[in-house]
Amino acid sequence: MILCFDIGGSAIKSAHAYAPDDVRPHGRVPTPGTDFDAFTQVLRDAIAAAPVPPQRIAISIAGVLDPETGAARVANIPCLNGRKLHGELQAELGLPVDLANDADCFALAEATVGAGRGHEVVMGVILGTGIGGGVVVRGQLLNRAGFSGEWGHGPVAQRVLGQPEITLPAFPCGCGIAGCLDAVCGARGLEMLHRHLHPGAAGDSPAIIAGWQAGEAQSARTIAIWIELLAAPLAMIQNLLGAGIMPVGGGLSKTTALVAALDQAVRPLILRRIDRPLLVPAECRIEPGLIGAAVLGLANAAAKKPGAGIDPASREN
Ligand SMILES: [Zn+2]
Repeated sequence: MILCFDIGGSAIKSAHAYAPDDVRPHGRVPTPGTDFDAFTQVLRDAIAAAPVPPQRIAISIAGVLDPETGAARVANIPCLNGRKLHGELQAELGLPVDLANDADCFALAEATVGAGRGHEVVMGVILGTGIGGGVVVRGQLLNRAGFSGEWGHGPVAQRVLGQPEITLPAFPCGCGIAGCLDAVCGARGLEMLHRHLHPGAAGDSPAIIAGWQAGEAQSARTIAIWIELLAAPLAMIQNLLGAGIMPVGGGLSKTTALVAALDQAVRPLILRRIDRPLLVPAECRIEPGLIGAAVLGLANAAAKKPGAGIDPASREN
């Protein structure tokens, strides 16, 4: 049994995994954000409460690891920030630890038991509060540190677009760069785009999407521009990776018509001619982080690998 954790800024969820399709969620506790001893105690308590002694620990975390030093960058959990997390957790818990970024775990879950099953190259796309993703090639993460698939950042958002044409500013992003897709196409970005296009307009992202589905003109304009912003970068990503499928997760993907509209905008822009959907709704709707962590832990257990994360002593990237 692999003991899996999905560690986010507000909660630590756990599960007992026996196979990729047999992941049994076990509970959730608030994340001790500022106290590392309390944080590791949550993990130790879960080990003690497990029905059988776990072979290893597999963790999905909302952060990235420096590929050179192993230092974690976890904005929402200050007590983990800067720690050489992989090595420290293995030492604290006395078990092999597998550690991966949450978007990468999502991609791994989709590639193994979700919409990406049977595809050699899977690009997991997250359209949620933020824009992100992960890349899985032949069942393996392309990069274990969490820095691949991060297509939401970089100053690439189109500035002149739409019918009729408009010019958008380069909206500032939380990463410090202006013009990222994350700033204008995530759920909050979509709302900001809507207010920018229609001064005085209200409505959160579900309302804008519902308005688009109902044919309401302002929402339709916003969604048309949102799709245009996303379609060109996604086409470029597909040309780069040759992804056979792009499962789409995150809150904005709950509207399957929106995923279908985006797919129809992307496919004419790629080199490959493909007569089936490329962007499809993700299938692991419940706990993709836990499932992805389970996939990672089970694979490494089968290969009898020492814990896989990033630390200076066992760097593979
Ligand atoms: Zn950014």
